[in-house]
Amino acid sequence: MALERTLSIIKPDAVAKNVVGEIYARFEKAGLKVAAAKMKHLSRKEAEGFYAVHRERPFFNALVEFMISGPVMIQVLQGDNAILKNRELMGATNPKDAAKGTIRADFADSIDANAVHGSDAAETAAVEIAYFFAATEVFPR
Ligand code: GDP
Ligand code: MG
Repeated sequence: MALERTLSIIKPDAVAKNVVGEIYARFEKAGLKVAAAKMKHLSRKEAEGFYAVHRERPFFNALVEFMISGPVMIQVLQGDNAILKNRELMGATNPKDAAKGTIRADFADSIDANAVHGSDAAETAAVEIAYFFAATEVFPR
């Protein structure tokens, strides 16, 4: 198993629902450790830059509007197979398709407001972590 780091964001809908702690508990129970964390209200520019790969998608503007609608919790999770493990904890993008017991099945309302973000591969994880955290802000766990 590979020790990995991944970028996780608890999106504005889940922060507003006051389930940050419940989501952190799922990370911890799965063996993922929080190696960095910050709460932030993203600017439009930051949200557009973060989701730049989706720039041409029809849902891009709605996604950016949603991501800047309130504060988010941003964290680096570290652990064995952290990238895939976090994706499994999150569940499918559309909460309607998300497996029972996943974060999105339990806390998300729609494909727009779907509670969490998680990096999808090692390359994107590295880019996304560096987008929000300096190397000195990420702690070996
Ligand atoms: P994720 O990796 O599971 O978060 O999904 P993607 O990387 O494919 O998409 C990024 C985010 O854009 C998702 O989490 C959704 O919030 C949003 N999104 C993706 N696909 C759609 C869609 O078909 N319609 C809408 N409205 N939003 C979408
Ligand atoms: Mg994605």
